[in-house]
Amino acid sequence: MPKEPERRRTRLAIVGSGPAGLTAALYSARANLAPLVLGGVPSGGQLMLTTDVENYPGFPEGIQGPELIDRFRAQAARFGAEFLDDNVVRVDLTRRPFRLETGTRGTIEADAVIVATGANARWLNLPSEQRLRGHGVSACATCDGFFFKEKDLAAIGGGDSAMEEALFLTKFARHVTVIHRRGELRASRIMQERAKAHPKISFKFDTEVVEVLGTDTVEGLRLRDRRTGTLSELKVQGLFLAIGHDPASEVFRGALELDAKGYLKTTDITHTSVDGVFAAGDVYDHRYRQAVSAAGLGCMAAIDAERWLAEHPETPAKAPKAA
Ligand code: NAP
Repeated sequence: MPKEPERRRTRLAIVGSGPAGLTAALYSARANLAPLVLGGVPSGGQLMLTTDVENYPGFPEGIQGPELIDRFRAQAARFGAEFLDDNVVRVDLTRRPFRLETGTRGTIEADAVIVATGANARWLNLPSEQRLRGHGVSACATCDGFFFKEKDLAAIGGGDSAMEEALFLTKFARHVTVIHRRGELRASRIMQERAKAHPKISFKFDTEVVEVLGTDTVEGLRLRDRRTGTLSELKVQGLFLAIGHDPASEVFRGALELDAKGYLKTTDITHTSVDGVFAAGDVYDHRYRQAVSAAGLGCMAAIDAERWLAEHPETPAKAPKAA
């Protein structure tokens, strides 16, 4: 086996391999840029943890999340995108070519970079919750609500997402109980009022979930009243987490401007604080967070990067300064 080169040069590096990164790869490959996709380990993003995807256009029968990712990847590879499934562990964006250091595959030098590292939904991290993920436990009502027609459901959280998820779930569910750990919601007044006025929604305050009950599917929740410590059970067939997301931006901290919650700051949609570095998908979009919107943003970042590269010929690599 030939030894992996320590340093590798590319016109365009794409960090992340979810719908945003892979769509950026497809568009930039078709623009003859031969992008190098640093896919992360595990690669593929949140869709790899999703079962049925029924809201991605073009698949009237639905498609499994990992299969959709495989198809994205094959389509990008067909036009010349290359893949290096490794994590970026350090970046130097202070000079061009930009440098991306990977965990085990050396350093990548790139004239332009698209950051599409996504965001991760927060979980309670209960063993029972993790075991039943995809089997009644979900962090996306838009994706999975449809599977819970006439069921009793619980939504966890006290922010706008929890109100929005609970309201969305009422389209299908018989009843939705919003469970919040404190005595008051942090959601905007209008969202609180909408949820509180809805006949299918009720609230349990000062309450936390200590266990998700059920063997193969969700059958209920064991709850604890935080004021009294009293345990109780709530019968539900689905649990929706809406306790926030964490953008996967840590490796770019200090190199790119982030907002207070760690999302990449952009101007003109895809442009980050460093000229030649673009953003795509959930790493800066905390509003829509859908596979199809991330793919759309990946397309936009690729077009912007391509235009930028056309105006910026290849930067000659300088030898690193002696210490
Ligand atoms: P958020 O505002 O950070 O709210 C997260 C909620 O989850 C909080 O109520 C928090 O409780 C709770 N929480 C966090 N960790 C928890 C844990 N381990 N166990 C139990 N509960 C936990 O997040 P978000 O609701 O996703 O909203 C994010 C941003 O997007 C916000 O700025 C929001 O306004 C915006 N947004 C807007 C809309 C809209 O306008 N339609 C819709 C969605 C999101 P505490 O309250 O006790 O901290």
